[in-house]
Amino acid sequence: MTLHAPYDSANIFGKILRGEMPSVKVFEDDIALAFMDVFPQGEGHTLVIPKGVEARNFLDLPDDKVGAYMLRVQKVARAVEKGLKPDGLRIFQFNGAPAGQTVFHLHFHILPVWDGVKPGAHAAGGMKSAAELEPVAAKIRAGF
Ligand code: 5GP
Repeated sequence: MTLHAPYDSANIFGKILRGEMPSVKVFEDDIALAFMDVFPQGEGHTLVIPKGVEARNFLDLPDDKVGAYMLRVQKVARAVEKGLKPDGLRIFQFNGAPAGQTVFHLHFHILPVWDGVKPGAHAAGGMKSAAELEPVAAKIRAGF
């Protein structure tokens, strides 16, 4: 029943939101925070999480929060596109462990894709350091 479990604020994205864990941020306002995935499936793999809600997954997000959050997902996707000039973009999201979800604070993945470059598998990439992610994040920030 992982689709309908209580929200556990000790999850890693909750810690990032509270500043208890570092992240390489590209966007933040009162609605959402976007930062680089540390196990990226490709260059520029970015995550967008909602703030001020205890939502494990998309089904948990209150109706009145969906619109503003999705606007941030689109805004970040546009910045990724402008900053990194990929040929395509995957925007995806998993709900529940059986579906592939590994961190239980709602997030959308934004994964740039280039012609001829096969994206890595989900939850299978090597860890990148902040120093490695920062130059890519800087290009995305410049895309806003
Ligand atoms: P999910 O599997 O829940 O859809 O996605 C979780 C994502 O979070 C994965 O792509 C994984 O690489 C990423 N991730 C896991 N731990 C951390 C972390 O500590 N920091 C960041 N920035 N990303 C993480």
